[in-house]
Amino acid sequence: MTRIFSGIKPTGHLTLGNYLGALRRWAEVDQYRADALFSVVDLHALTVEHDPARVRRLSRQAVTLMLAAGLDPELCTVFVQSHVDEHVRLSYLLECTATDGELRRMIQFKEKGAHARAAGQSVRLSLLTYPVLMAADILAYGTDEVPVGEDQTQHVELTRDLAVRFNQRYGHTFTVPKATHPPVAARVMDLQDPTSKMGKSHESGAGIVYLLDDADVVRKKIMRAVTDSGLQVEYDREGKPGIANLLEVLAACSGGNPSELAGAYESYGALKKDTAEAVVELLRPVRERHARLASDSGHVEEVLRKGAERARGMARPRVDAAYRAIGL
Ligand code: ADP
Repeated sequence: MTRIFSGIKPTGHLTLGNYLGALRRWAEVDQYRADALFSVVDLHALTVEHDPARVRRLSRQAVTLMLAAGLDPELCTVFVQSHVDEHVRLSYLLECTATDGELRRMIQFKEKGAHARAAGQSVRLSLLTYPVLMAADILAYGTDEVPVGEDQTQHVELTRDLAVRFNQRYGHTFTVPKATHPPVAARVMDLQDPTSKMGKSHESGAGIVYLLDDADVVRKKIMRAVTDSGLQVEYDREGKPGIANLLEVLAACSGGNPSELAGAYESYGALKKDTAEAVVELLRPVRERHARLASDSGHVEEVLRKGAERARGMARPRVDAAYRAIGL
């Protein structure tokens, strides 16, 4: 059976980008068609300035939202990365497989490193090495597929390179995984800056729809989205990124196709209005289930305990084999 692994970082409140790019397909498709593991990758939240209590709180909230989005712990494994030691154990072996040059080339390292420096902060070494930990997250489980948004393509490529290199040097140990993306809205853009992605750790929330935003807040944010000059609704990612983003979000919500939808609108205002309502309806059941689950922390704890136990059992034999293969 196909093995799937994917994760989400507890660095901020989950966004519409996280939902359309990843979470929704995990819940609607992936958990049914594969042996799937979904993790809140909390160690990855420590690569930039962080508040310990906030990371803990956001971790629990992310798990609760994953369940609210429809992940069923009877069908898939839901767990927190730091509960399973194998990730860090394997990460070190992969650090001994990767080179500093290939890590310095990672776009996210360049962007987030520059951001930290601009804020007068030092760049944590883990910001450089975290793609290796991500490779360990994936390779520890013999993963075939990694369902992610487009922003993660480069990291999955690195994971593939490391798996191939390790296998060639020390004997076949790891499955070489591939990234999969949703057919539409694989890169949801910030509503206020449609040239950059909607990311949960960005400071300004005005361009970001959070899954737990009130319906009226969602409407307001979408109605105030930055659009482009001109009046005609066209699907043109380069020339009209703001409108293209709205069309993709609407298509993802309604099951349509962005180019075809464009033809149905006479004005930007009408497109925004329909997109806002579609997003509100899409998120309504998630918010309702979240409210119920958030008041039952015992259930969430139990899901995580069982998830970690199952994940450990799957990862340990492969990580042990990697230790033997590398000469330990
Ligand atoms: P973030 O950038 O919000 O911190 P994570 O790194 O935790 O997101 O990613 C969790 C998942 O959500 C990944 O599969 C990632 O590709 C996806 N994702 C994040 N932002 C977006 C976006 N704007 N559009 C589509 N998918 C996204």
